[in-house]
Amino acid sequence: MNYKNFPMVPRVIFGRGSFNQLSEIISPKRLNVHAPFVFLVDDVFKGNAWLTSRIPLAYEDKVIYISSNEEPKTSQVDDLVEDIILTSRQGTSGIIGIGGGTILDLAKAVAIMLTNEGEAKDYQGWDLVKNPAIYHVGIPTISGTGAEVSRTTVLTGPEKKLGINSDFTPFDQVILDPELTKGVDTNQWFYTGMDCFIHCVESLNGSYLNEFSKSYGDMSFQLCKEIFLQDTLSEAESQDKLMMASWHGGMSIAYSQVGVAHAMSYGLSYLLGTKHGIGNCIVFDHLSEFYPEGVSLFKEMKKKHQIELPKGICAKLHDSEFDIMINIALSLEPLWENAIGKNWKKTITREKLKNLYQKM
Ligand code: NAD
Ligand code: ZN
Repeated sequence: MNYKNFPMVPRVIFGRGSFNQLSEIISPKRLNVHAPFVFLVDDVFKGNAWLTSRIPLAYEDKVIYISSNEEPKTSQVDDLVEDIILTSRQGTSGIIGIGGGTILDLAKAVAIMLTNEGEAKDYQGWDLVKNPAIYHVGIPTISGTGAEVSRTTVLTGPEKKLGINSDFTPFDQVILDPELTKGVDTNQWFYTGMDCFIHCVESLNGSYLNEFSKSYGDMSFQLCKEIFLQDTLSEAESQDKLMMASWHGGMSIAYSQVGVAHAMSYGLSYLLGTKHGIGNCIVFDHLSEFYPEGVSLFKEMKKKHQIELPKGICAKLHDSEFDIMINIALSLEPLWENAIGKNWKKTITREKLKNLYQKM
């Protein structure tokens, strides 16, 4: 057995209003006055002075607003890197991502590509990155993905949707300020929150489970049940707890693996552009044969918060399109091995996946 030597985020700050400490945190990391900090900020915050007025800009620092309507692409990373190199001739002091999983993943990828040659697509895979990334900070504004702790940055490239998984990917610093999540609407809160819940279900019911993953997974699973099924929490408590649930859920899968919902949702995302959170929900709703307890809790949560998931998104697809989704899903072998076991190929047939997709 070769055990993983997993890198963790070395510095993290937690608390409502901790975003105000950003300046004191990053100032010592400035390389020189001509090497800017580049803030990649979700464009949902454009014009939102409550947040943007607190971004500590100095010297040649810059803010780049980015839409998270689509999941990050390798070409988008390459364009950002080119832009940053051309406008910062004396280097870049750091990349600071402020947003959800989309922006956090972009920030990690850009920080890596600023010190590694070639294009982002060349690094999709495991441990292909050669040089350490530049200093990068993650500041989540919506909770659930675990992208703030993970060792990957999920990108859609010309040929595949796959992460840049490397020891250089995790953030050097994370700021967990649950107050930043206050503007998230109910549907999006649910979709991204359920990503966390599904991480726990897939990790806790997988064959890769171990005590490291279980301890984090159990904690996150309990928090999710409190947040999504109880009525006793205040809004602030619920925000605080979901931010920590996301962290623990991410830690749980870091040392195990996700499962069926993620494998199939990657297929939806690749073909139809369905975003991660909602895609996981659409798939998970149909997975009671794999995760009976988890899916029944999920349905309860969905009902409690009056969430209507889209239906019939695969209704008009051709066989060739089903094939594309099935190829993507089946290519994620570790996810199936974790979910079903070593002999997963005996039961997980193309026909079975097609039947499941047809229900969505
Ligand atoms: P997101 O970043 O796509 O954001 C979802 C929506 O919420 C967007 O419209 C955004 O503008 C909005 N939003 C974010 N913060 C807000 C706020 N405070 N107020 C109002 N609106 C706000 O959503 P996500 O679910 O966090 O991230 C999904 C992405 O994360 C996918 O690209 C997925 O591949 C990736 N992901 C990465 C990992 C990882 O380990 N790296 C894990 C899971 C998912
Ligand atoms: Zn996920």
